[in-house]
Amino acid sequence: MTRKQPEFLQEKEIFRDHIQKTGLRRTAQRDLILEIFLRTEEHLTSEDLYTLVHRQDSTVGQTTVYRTLKLLTEAGLAREVRFGDNKTYYEHHYNHEHHDHMICTECGKVIEFFSQEIENLQDQMADKFGFKPTHHSLRLWGFCSECQRKQLDTAVAASGAQPRVRVRSVVG
Ligand SMILES: [Zn+2]
Ligand SMILES: [Zn+2]
Ligand SMILES: [Zn+2]
Repeated sequence: MTRKQPEFLQEKEIFRDHIQKTGLRRTAQRDLILEIFLRTEEHLTSEDLYTLVHRQDSTVGQTTVYRTLKLLTEAGLAREVRFGDNKTYYEHHYNHEHHDHMICTECGKVIEFFSQEIENLQDQMADKFGFKPTHHSLRLWGFCSECQRKQLDTAVAASGAQPRVRVRSVVG
């Protein structure tokens, strides 16, 4: 769900405008946080982003990262998403098309998907109830294909299934 814009010029301009509007100053730290956020095409918590930023500049504090993420959200560059683990994740919002999520409760993998059929059905359902939706977030929780495979392997091992061919020892 990406549209690659390596320089992120529009994003940077939007951020600059927003910073100005809020009467804040542009700082090298905020610029770095923005840059790393834009380069990371993932669902990140504030702590995740802090870890990434800290690697490049150890003088950046956790609060600065948190506040900058809030600014990015206000500016429409980031969007908050919740996956039911009491954490707030952030993902790119600007220039990104609407999508929904599947969350693996085993390994935490997040799959993004979009289905026009589901979107239409949601609208129809809202219509039926005279409901005017402003936004939505569809999330499915479960096990990703990899974790299902692992679970199957563990189940086989736990059942104590014996190898089919048993070689009888002639010795002893
Ligand atoms: Zn949707
Ligand atoms: Zn998984
Ligand atoms: Zn997403």
